[in-house]
Amino acid sequence: MNNILRIAIQKSGRLQEGSLKLLKDCGLNISNGKDQLKTQAGNFPIEVLFLRDDDIPQYIEDGVADAGIIGENVFIEKQKKGNIIKRLDFSKCRLALAIPRSEQYTGLTWFEGKNIATSYPNIVSDYLKKNNIKAGIHEISGSVEIAPGIGLADAICDIVSTGSTLLSNGLKEVELVLKSEAVLISRIQLEKSKQDILDKLLFRIEAVQQARNNKYILLNCPNESIEAITNVIPGMKSPTILPLGKEGWSSLHSVVDENDFWEKIDQLKALGAQGILVIPIEKMIK
Ligand code: ATP
Ligand code: ZN
Repeated sequence: MNNILRIAIQKSGRLQEGSLKLLKDCGLNISNGKDQLKTQAGNFPIEVLFLRDDDIPQYIEDGVADAGIIGENVFIEKQKKGNIIKRLDFSKCRLALAIPRSEQYTGLTWFEGKNIATSYPNIVSDYLKKNNIKAGIHEISGSVEIAPGIGLADAICDIVSTGSTLLSNGLKEVELVLKSEAVLISRIQLEKSKQDILDKLLFRIEAVQQARNNKYILLNCPNESIEAITNVIPGMKSPTILPLGKEGWSSLHSVVDENDFWEKIDQLKALGAQGILVIPIEKMIK
């Protein structure tokens, strides 16, 4: 079917919630995939396939799915044909090398001649090659962190988020191999009708991401600080300024970037802003 875009997401696991939330925030009317393999959005020409994340790159290469949401780590590891078209800013994690805590780490040469257990043999092998280290790679599909403890390997390369799993297995992180987040991938070549649908979806994803990264801000200020405050929070074009009932005061409305939000608030207070309200934005189109 050419007039419908098939997008694959993880059926259950750490990517599922973020993927579904993103598609729903993009206005797609879809159910949550419990006990079903696919669902058609009620109001958009998209069909969602619920799959194991590890299978998604192959399905994209084979053309069974047109697009997918997957961890960059898995996409790189699988080495299948497809393009990363958007980084999605959720399911952030890192792939790291870890060794027993009792070992003294001397730098990458520590790994020379050692055995590394991992579920990411391709990524690890590329990393070692790039750094001119010769080590053995022992591929295992799960519970990688117990490998050194049971004598299966000298070290591991695995996903780390907080490090507490490493700690409880007597390991310490020593090298960052790859930073990862969820990404939107697509087939190398899409028919025009499908590309058009993907472009529409991308437009919506960008509006959702912009909104997530920005806040709407309202404040009261004395008229003489309007110019200085406008320099701090210029907004999308310029702030909206409305006179207050109180003589010499105005209400100023603008948009502020989430990342430097607190710093801006301090500057605004110093410029005499009062009654500052900060409101989430649902969608933002520049
Ligand atoms: P299975 O295939 O058996 O469901 P999995 O390990 O592939 O297991 P998840 O644990 O759900 O599946 O992880 C899916 C993806 O989520 C990972 O490939 C990675 O990109 C990301 N991820 C993994 N761990 C974390 C974490 N602690 N925090 C954020 N993202 C993570
Ligand atoms: Zn998986």
